[in-house]
Amino acid sequence: MGTASLTIDLPALIANWRALDAMTSCETGATVKANGYGLGAEKVARALAQAGARTFYVAMAEEGTIIRQALGPDPKICVFSGHMRGDTDMIADMQLIPMLNSVEQLTRHLEALPGHPFGVQLDTGMNRLGLEPAEWAALREIVLPQNPVLVMSHLACADEPEHPMNARQLATFHEMTDGISTPRSLAATGGILLGPEYHFDMCRPGVGLYGGAPFSDATPVAYLDLPVIQIRDVEEGETVGYSNTWTAKRMSRIATVSSGYADGLIRAMGPNASLRFGADICPIVGRISMDLITVDVTDLTEEPRALSILDDKQTVETLADAAGTIGYEILTSLGGRYSRRYVTG
Ligand SMILES: *Cc1c(COP(=O)(O)O)cnc(C)c1O
Repeated sequence: MGTASLTIDLPALIANWRALDAMTSCETGATVKANGYGLGAEKVARALAQAGARTFYVAMAEEGTIIRQALGPDPKICVFSGHMRGDTDMIADMQLIPMLNSVEQLTRHLEALPGHPFGVQLDTGMNRLGLEPAEWAALREIVLPQNPVLVMSHLACADEPEHPMNARQLATFHEMTDGISTPRSLAATGGILLGPEYHFDMCRPGVGLYGGAPFSDATPVAYLDLPVIQIRDVEEGETVGYSNTWTAKRMSRIATVSSGYADGLIRAMGPNASLRFGADICPIVGRISMDLITVDVTDLTEEPRALSILDDKQTVETLADAAGTIGYEILTSLGGRYSRRYVTG
């Protein structure tokens, strides 16, 4: 088979959710936006629902529809982008809970769907989504009697525990919400790790469920094996790949494997990344191309039929470091051409 195989370990995903849930004494939801961080929204959401998650978070209403169809009527599905123009029917039909983030959205929602559950997003300093403190002060006495199901905000620097922004946002969140009876939520994965004062009534982890930083104790969830299409000998002084960026310094064996930047193995990680054959490390040589990667397998004692790029030692974080990016981007870039296999319990 010429396609690479992406294996998704659902018991590992569940173990990560349980481990994060065990760190809190509040409800732990699950963020499954961007197709479950690239790993397959329906499969991921079903596994997490079986494990006990009852509230799911998505970025937009269309993603919420997919989760609703996968999970049936019971779980709560919250939409971070709120109530956008044109989404009213979807929000109503799929029983989605928009996290309203502006005066415009509050007006739209309360006029279009009076009595339909909603949450409110507050901006505590990230300046991305949510009502500013002054807007909230002016509106809260109007909004709170409409019984929002959640009041939430998002931390900008939660992956850096020492960053003073965390305490500043926590203080602002307290100022904006202390004394109200609505359930509150501030923490995603990073916020859970900051400690109990960040947990409030609901946590919304995403990346940690899928094995990414900052949850350093996460169990890896994604495994990616690339089939070897061809192996060739290259003389000292010969070059490999586009633009001749790699020259053999010795007689070398080069394996050409299937997958490239069109599959999310971004070109920027090329010269710093490696593939693995069991415990043996095989460096990428030359440019990563659209569908193919060339790998130095000179030191292997047998001919590999496949090499792995994600396994339990080399994780999305390893690849992210090689590419100068973050695990989130590696996960959500994983391509549509992989044959996907789900390990179940
Ligand atoms: C993406 C997102 C989350 C989940 O964040 P992770 O860092 O992946 O745990 C939670 N809340 C909001 C508002 C988000 O945008």
